[in-house]
Amino acid sequence: MLLDQFASAILSGSIKIIDLTQTLMPSTPVIQLPPPFAPSNPFSISEISHYDERGPGWYWNNLGMGEHTGTHFDAPIHWVTGKDYSDGGVDTINVQRFVAPAVVIDVSKEAAADEKFLMEPSHIEVWESLHGRIPDGAWVLMRTDWSKRTDPALFLNMKEDGPHVPGPSAATVHFLVEQRNVTGWGVEAVGTDAGQGFAFEPAFPAHHLMHGANKFGLASLTNLDKLPPTGAVLITAPLKIEKGSGSPLRVLALVAG
Ligand code: MN
Repeated sequence: MLLDQFASAILSGSIKIIDLTQTLMPSTPVIQLPPPFAPSNPFSISEISHYDERGPGWYWNNLGMGEHTGTHFDAPIHWVTGKDYSDGGVDTINVQRFVAPAVVIDVSKEAAADEKFLMEPSHIEVWESLHGRIPDGAWVLMRTDWSKRTDPALFLNMKEDGPHVPGPSAATVHFLVEQRNVTGWGVEAVGTDAGQGFAFEPAFPAHHLMHGANKFGLASLTNLDKLPPTGAVLITAPLKIEKGSGSPLRVLALVAG
């Protein structure tokens, strides 16, 4: 009965589906690591045939990319702190966890004023005073409007001292992991951590702490400005890559229409 109602609501449009996914293309920005760290390959696409002599009736392409390219999912085994979870790879995660509610914390004004803006626990306290406690099992999505930076250089925003990109403070990630029961942390930027997160304690807290607690990440999201603060449900199934640490995926948000 519940699923009949759900299917009818999808059909009638009383549940709307919003695409939180960036289009993959060769210019899709990929995270830049300083030497000596190994780089991730950009997205590449090459035609196999296009209704031509190579295949007269069909069109298809070969693809190449790093697992963490474009809108993508970070699995717990992506980080050394999550390496021992037997259910921590994209192929072993319990699929029940790929459908979960989401809350959106809008810090777009703060991020517009400060490219190195950090979300602090105080921002979550203010949000919860307006919208209630973050529900169990929710994704927490940080809306910065960073996805509106369509120029890859401005999106990565690399400076002399590393990227200037907003993200969570270590205290915020501690709070979400230890004081709330979240499914994961999602952002509009190229990675789940702030651009200066390499210098935090611990370094890269959204990776170190979230994955250390068997929780997930979502990066390079878009259209967070189209979601309500609470009430959306996300579908976030990554590709089933053997021992995969993450993968590009289509992130869909279901919202009441
Ligand atoms: Mn990643």
